[in-house]
Amino acid sequence: MTAAPQRQMLAEMVYDSIRRRLVDHEIEPGSKMNINTLAQELRVSPTPLREALARLEAEGLVVKRSLAGYTAAPLLNARDLDELFEVRMLLEPAVAAHAAERSRHEDLGQLAEQLAEMRRVRDDGSRTTLIRYLHHDALFHDQIAALSGNGLLRITLARLHAHAHQYRLHFEEGMAEETRLEHERILEALREKDTETAAARMGTHLRRARARLVGAADPLPRVAEDRMTTVARHRLTALPRPAASLAVPHDTTAREG
Ligand SMILES: [Zn+2]
Repeated sequence: MTAAPQRQMLAEMVYDSIRRRLVDHEIEPGSKMNINTLAQELRVSPTPLREALARLEAEGLVVKRSLAGYTAAPLLNARDLDELFEVRMLLEPAVAAHAAERSRHEDLGQLAEQLAEMRRVRDDGSRTTLIRYLHHDALFHDQIAALSGNGLLRITLARLHAHAHQYRLHFEEGMAEETRLEHERILEALREKDTETAAARMGTHLRRARARLVGAADPLPRVAEDRMTTVARHRLTALPRPAASLAVPHDTTAREG
């Protein structure tokens, strides 16, 4: 192998390794990241590490401050999570409707292929599954934004770094499978070019994704809300399926689950 691809492969490996540590909280959210220490641990020179950190900064997983260097991005708190989902719920149902209207059957092949691939992954709640789903979910939503034909909307959504943040919060067995099934239903609506159903199903998916993350975000520093978060967490684990009230009312075709 020549030097250039070798260097590229090394850069990719360093990036993957640091990303996994961040998602895994092996590098604590908010903690300082020392380039020399990391370089020693990974037995690489600081150059591929700097490249990896720049990529992770663009993804919102690390923060660079002048003089202070790199730190792992802090976790979203409950309010950040609410704000993030508010923006997503305002934009993404409309994006899905546009995609349903504009996309031709052959444009949907990639989405279908990805879902077929995810169907083969065993949902065991492991970190490996998490990383694969993180990738799949981000790609799925980005492709729908691309199919909407509105480049600015696509960039706006990408800049939220929603997936990188969400999946650092919480992940357990069953979440990947629920996500995949909701994605399948969105794809079905896109295939049928049913704009209203596509928008409604995207809304339902985001509400449920939000519910799956309830209790995972750091509660706001008040006792009453701490308690509410605990209660919400218990209720969610007790329920085999998302509560009916979380469904978008006009998605009349929605099956539970
Ligand atoms: Zn999704």
